[in-house]
Amino acid sequence: DNDVRKTINIAVIPGDGIGKEVTPQTQAVMGKAVGNQVRLNYVDYDLGAERYLRDGTLLNDEDLESIGQQDAILLGAVGDPRVRSGILERGLLLKLRFSFDQAVNLRPTKLYPGVNSPLKNPGRIDFAVVREGTEGLYSGMGGYIRRGTDQAIATETSLNTAFGVERAVRYAFDLARKRGGKRNVTMVNKTNVLPHAGALWLDIMDKVAQEYPDVTWDYLHADACTIFLVTDPSRFDVIVTDNLFGDVLTDEAGAVVGGIGYSASANINVTDEHPSMFEPIHGSAPDIAGKGIANPTASILSGAMLLEHFGYDQAAERIQRAVEEDVAANASRSRSTQEVAQDIIARL
Ligand code: ATP
Repeated sequence: DNDVRKTINIAVIPGDGIGKEVTPQTQAVMGKAVGNQVRLNYVDYDLGAERYLRDGTLLNDEDLESIGQQDAILLGAVGDPRVRSGILERGLLLKLRFSFDQAVNLRPTKLYPGVNSPLKNPGRIDFAVVREGTEGLYSGMGGYIRRGTDQAIATETSLNTAFGVERAVRYAFDLARKRGGKRNVTMVNKTNVLPHAGALWLDIMDKVAQEYPDVTWDYLHADACTIFLVTDPSRFDVIVTDNLFGDVLTDEAGAVVGGIGYSASANINVTDEHPSMFEPIHGSAPDIAGKGIANPTASILSGAMLLEHFGYDQAAERIQRAVEEDVAANASRSRSTQEVAQDIIARL
């Protein structure tokens, strides 16, 4: 009965460039994967560089309020070489992230058989990075103590609250339990040079770990972590870290598993009070935009994360399995965006 079926209201922001090409394919794959289980109600928003260049709008109150009423956000990519770096990031992406209190940035990192890793002996890579998404050095606190090109002094303050750190850490322990793999959380920081924030993070790890006797945890300095990500990536299960280290480490992790076409991410509001946002990590790729050759896999995997977030684990797993089979069979062939999506849908 259609009327009693659950509905997920999804704000769709295809954005710019290849975002516009991959997002509709992801919607088609998601629809096929859920079948009659749930109704996916898509609400489109025209946001991104093109909108900004057209009428100067980044994200107005009306759109923000309307998006806030949806259950989730599916984002394609925003960016355009004609828009100065930082404008869209701060005026649109960070504004969404902060307005909807998306405290956890989640990046699953998996090497699919068939995909070329730059590592000679990659082994079995399957871990997730949980990055605290609202604090740290991204708090915007700081300023100029003194101006003047030669004498300028600028500060940037890293904000770490027990509240903010605990929700990221708790999310990481829950995830390690849910993944059911090594059941290990690795905290990454630089406690040797960041004594205050480092101690706070360690205290919270200690405290939260007591509640998860079935999950082990260890600690790595960020510099050591960058090394292990290329020398022994199969050691990791769940990594939890702050905003800046997370930004850097997730890009490195993405590269290790064959890069940009396969990396999905979620910005999660842990209380479900506001919508979480699901997006591929790649940008709008102006160099290939309009050619219909962008790989939609990262966006499709982001769609799977969205379904998993709402408890449709089986539909999400079906997509992941279809992607895995598709990659194993076809990763070396060049296909159009639509062909890849059709091949994945055929396997579903
Ligand atoms: P941004 O600043 O928005 O991250 P960028 O130009 O630094 O933009 P991308 O837009 O991700 O980064 O593009 C980086 C390179 O990867 C480009 O050469 C682009 O063509 C390629 N690329 C990105 N996404 C895809 C994709 N889905 N399929 C194929 N190639 C891609």
